[in-house]
Parts: sequence; structure tokens; C-alpha cells
Amino acid sequence: MNNRINGKTALYGVIGYPISHSMSPEIHNTIFDLRKENRIYLPLSIPPETLKDAMMMLGSSFKGFNVTIPHKEKIMEYLDEIDEKARWYGAVNTVKVEDGKLIGYNTDGYGFTRSMVEEGVSLEGKRILLVGSGGAARIAGHEILLQGGLLTIANRSSDRSHRLKEVLETNIGAKDIKTMDLNHIESGFDCIINATPLGMAPWVEEMPVREEVLKNSPWIFDMVYNPYETKLMRLGKIYGCRVKNGFSMLFYQAVKAQEIWMGKMFLEDELYKLHEEIENYIVGSRREDIESIG
Ligand code: NAP
Repeated sequence: MNNRINGKTALYGVIGYPISHSMSPEIHNTIFDLRKENRIYLPLSIPPETLKDAMMMLGSSFKGFNVTIPHKEKIMEYLDEIDEKARWYGAVNTVKVEDGKLIGYNTDGYGFTRSMVEEGVSLEGKRILLVGSGGAARIAGHEILLQGGLLTIANRSSDRSHRLKEVLETNIGAKDIKTMDLNHIESGFDCIINATPLGMAPWVEEMPVREEVLKNSPWIFDMVYNPYETKLMRLGKIYGCRVKNGFSMLFYQAVKAQEIWMGKMFLEDELYKLHEEIENYIVGSRREDIESIG
């Protein structure tokens, strides 16, 4: 008799389209199993034109869910409340259903900052080069400024980096954000952060910056985690940089979503065990289609 799901099982999930690339089901079901919770997490394929209708079912049957591409911005129209950081980031990746209300959060910023803390890296007063100006860069930009980092943004399309600078100035009140042409970046940043997909398939042999930029940069954080070591990280090591991939960011955004849904924090030894189990799974699975867990 299979009793994994019964009438009392609480439902969670991730909505996106397509959804088959998502690792959220593996991550969250591993967490539920470890905590021996009667909860289950499902991949939910929701085409954009059905999002509004799906909200009714999600609100009535689910306790919480994650949101991935292409719904992260659009879903904000259908929520009852939105957390301040999700507003800043312009995107929601986690929804909690509470007394019939849908409350939106974004846990990626927590994931980003917590992964820095894990490395013992403080961004305060450091010159940070952020490459990219999409959703992930927007989140990192806010977090870097909140931590007192000195931010320079470089992106393929300069109009987008200027727009990101304006958003950050409005939300954080920062005055000294620099933007730079990708081809004219010099070396000498304390930390380089890759918030582009360069390094993952099909761009595994590409880097977001020229090799010379890596000289004298003590720290490189690549948000990509598949492959586990990108070309940027490989070359960074040769230049003596300390390198980190995006796995911990991915892991801690999921942890934060769980804490929001459950209303209880993880113990440090639970986190350690989960981090190790999920990291081993991701390294071992070598799935080519993993992009983002949403
Ligand atoms: P996005 O919103 O689509 O933005 C992509 C950014 O990359 C844009 O700035 C874009 O420049 C730039 N870009 C794309 N292709 C490029 C190319 N061929 N050459 C140079 N620049 C290019 O994507 P996103 O959500 O910000 O995600 C960016 C990366 O971060 C992805 O690899 C994603 O998997 C990763 N990520 C990781 C985590 C994690 O938890 N570790 C979380 C979120 C995202 P233009 O503006 O010129 O188009």
C-alpha cells in the first residue's frame, strides 16, 4: 500500500512554462522527507494564458508555491500582498497561501546574501563588478548596495544597465553606482559577479568578461551552477582568485521559501545535511537541462 500521499497531505509546487527543467521538486521533496512532513511538492506546467485561472486552484488547494519563468512578474497582479523586497526586485518567486490570501515574496536575494555569508565574504566597502542586468542582476544589485558594496554594472546592452542603475538609485537611494562598457572593463575589482548565462550550455566556453579582468580580483562569484565549475571559475583559479558557483544561492533561496511556508527556521545541522545531500545530487545528476529552479 502506497501511503506517501493521503487526504491530509499538504500541497506545494512550482508554476512555470516549461517546467520540466526545474529542480525545485527534488529539492523541496528532499526537505519534506528529511523533516518527516506530510507535504508534497509538484511541478505545475501553467501556460501564460492560463495563469489567471490557475490562481483560483492554487489559492484554494495549495499551501504555498514557487514561481518561475515566465510568471515571476505577471503573478504580482494576482496577489493580495507583496513583500517589500519582491517589489524592489520586480519579481515574486515564492507565494504563501494564508487564510485564503496569496502573499508574494522573493527569496533569491536572501539566497545571494546567505551564500556570501557562508564564504565569510563581506561586501562592505568593496569594489564589486556585477555583469548582467536581468532579473538576477537586479536582485544582486540591491543586495550588494544594502551590504555597503561599491557597485559597477556592466552589461551587453548598455540601455539595460542604465535602467538597472536607475531602479537601484530609486529603491536604495544609492548615488555612486557606476556603469561600464563590457569591452572596457579593467582589472582590479575586489569581486566579480556573473549574473549572465555565459558559462552554462550552450555557452560553456564563454566568459562574461575578458581574461585580463580576472587579474588582481581576489573573489569571483558565478551564479551559474551547471556546469558546476564554469570557464570563468576555472580561469579565475589559475589567476589565484577564490571562486564560488551559484549552488548555495539556489539552495538558500529554497530554504528561505520553506521557512516562509512553515513559519519555522531550520537548525544548523539540518541545513548542513540538506546542503550536502542536494549538492551531491546536483553534481551527480549532470542534467544538461537545469537552468534555474525558480
Ligand atoms: P535574464 O533576466 O534573462 O538576464 C540575462 C542577462 O544576461 C542579461 O543582462 C543579458 O544581457 C545577459 N546575457 C544573456 N546572454 C548573453 C550573451 N550571450 N552575452 C552577454 N550577455 C548575455 O536572466 P537572469 O534571470 O538574470 O539569470 C541570469 C543567470 O543567473 C542565469 O544563468 C541563471 O541561471 C542564473 N541565476 C542563478 C540563480 C541561482 O540561484 N544560482 C538564480 C537566478 C539566476 P542583455 O540585457 O544584453 O540581454
